[in-house]
Amino acid sequence: MHNRRRFLQLRTLVLGMVLLACLSTLINTLYVAYRVQQTALVKSSLQANQAYASKVASSIDAFIKSARDHLRYSAALLATEMPDADLRIAEAKRLQAQDLDFNSIVIVNARGRILAAYPDIRQIASSRLSSSEILQAVDSAKPHISNAYTSRGGDLVVFISEPIRAPDGTYLGLVGGSVFLKKESELHTVIGAHYQNDGSYVFVADTNRRLLYHPDHELIGSVVSGSPTIEAALRGETGSLDAPNYIGIPMLAGFAPVADAHWAVVAQQPRELALAPLRELMQKVALHILPTSAIGLLLMLWLTQYLTKPLRHLADAARHFSSSHADADLKRIDAWYAEAADIRSALITGEQLLQERFGKLRQEAESDALTGLPNRRVLQAALDELMQGQRDFAVLALDIDHFKRVNDTYGHDAGDEVLQHLAELLRQRSRQQDLPCRVGGEEFTMLLPDTRLEDARRIAERIRAAVEEADTPHVGRLTLSIGVACRQPDTQQADTLLKQADEQLYKAKQSGRNRVEVFTP
Ligand code: GH3
Ligand code: MG
Ligand code: MG
Repeated sequence: MHNRRRFLQLRTLVLGMVLLACLSTLINTLYVAYRVQQTALVKSSLQANQAYASKVASSIDAFIKSARDHLRYSAALLATEMPDADLRIAEAKRLQAQDLDFNSIVIVNARGRILAAYPDIRQIASSRLSSSEILQAVDSAKPHISNAYTSRGGDLVVFISEPIRAPDGTYLGLVGGSVFLKKESELHTVIGAHYQNDGSYVFVADTNRRLLYHPDHELIGSVVSGSPTIEAALRGETGSLDAPNYIGIPMLAGFAPVADAHWAVVAQQPRELALAPLRELMQKVALHILPTSAIGLLLMLWLTQYLTKPLRHLADAARHFSSSHADADLKRIDAWYAEAADIRSALITGEQLLQERFGKLRQEAESDALTGLPNRRVLQAALDELMQGQRDFAVLALDIDHFKRVNDTYGHDAGDEVLQHLAELLRQRSRQQDLPCRVGGEEFTMLLPDTRLEDARRIAERIRAAVEEADTPHVGRLTLSIGVACRQPDTQQADTLLKQADEQLYKAKQSGRNRVEVFTP
């Protein structure tokens, strides 16, 4: 059984390979470009956010320093004028109105009693402070910045204060201002001034991890625990971090501390938002690559086709190697590169060799070795063909007269030469369509297609005469006897015809040889 395994075509293989190589190169290039751009973008975003955080931190620092300067100025004034109630009120009013640093001002004595407050004097004046943050400031007797706390009025505030000391150094109390964190204040303005429109936002937390500022004002006052950026800034570090935030969203963050206040400033940007331009860029690149890729693909298809075409045709020709037009097919193939050309010429050589051998074998099988005339097998085939077609034809049976004598007198080899001579003569005397065969030792049969009896008789007579007149080697004069038979409408079998011709030959021999006898129905 022939192996019917299906093989992949070279074209498919080459195309697959080329596609694989191109695709992997393209994907690799895009991927590497993406990664390089991503790394650069992440780095620049981190730097930008760190710079953003530092800028906000230094602005807050400047805000606090300025607030303190104003408080220190009042503290110096109050150092000598503390007992003057009018002046205290006037100073509180002036401070609050001065430059909007503070939402409210209090002046407190060393025992924690409010001596002046603005605004809302009547409510809280002369009352004992209950806010522990302010009490801590009083007790510390030092410049103080509180953590965020909720004031009695319900506001979330940060309290900044400076101690008041008499010229002899006696601690008299403090002057301090509250910054409202949820209401519009100068602190908001300071932080908001650095607003960036690239999705970055900033938030500020105190040492309790309580948010003092956040763009989402609802979150101000809430406590954020476990934020690595806040923790780092509270440790006093300035830097950046590419990590998820405390609720797991990947962020590119920069952080910086506010030194005096021990606050943390974090500026950050969702990683996805920072990388959005890159994705857009990659989409554009892909879109631009597409038309060229399509052209490249078509070119590749064509090239593959062009490259594999000679081999495909050679394979086709090889499959039909034994057909009669294999040689022409092979010669028509355009084998335009060395390997294909080599295969082609090898196939052509092989094919020619095959045809040569084939022809030789056939000739050997079909012809008589001594004379080269067609043998009995060919005669039989020709007879069958003639019988199948409704054509007239004649059969001549020829036999050399007294051939035994030739052998006896001149030897067997001379006899062979005589046979060859006669064969040549028969060949020359026969027409294109006639078929002279050697059917026995010195017996020949000739088929004369499309020949009627009278013509056959004439041809036989001519042959007989030609042999008689020819100068045959060794013997000089040679004669033969011929029996003729013609196909009749009722002739069913070729054998009948052969037999009739043989009978006529016998008759010719009987009648004295060197003559032609014709079978007449
Ligand atoms: P006739 O006139 O009756 O035909 O006499 P003949 O001698 O030809 O008699 P026959 O046909 O009986 O003898 C044929 C002889 O031809 C016998 C044989 O020695 C000789 N012969 C047959 N084949 C060959 C051959 O291939 N080469 C040679 N040299 N002689 C052959
Ligand atoms: Mg004989
Ligand atoms: Mg004879």
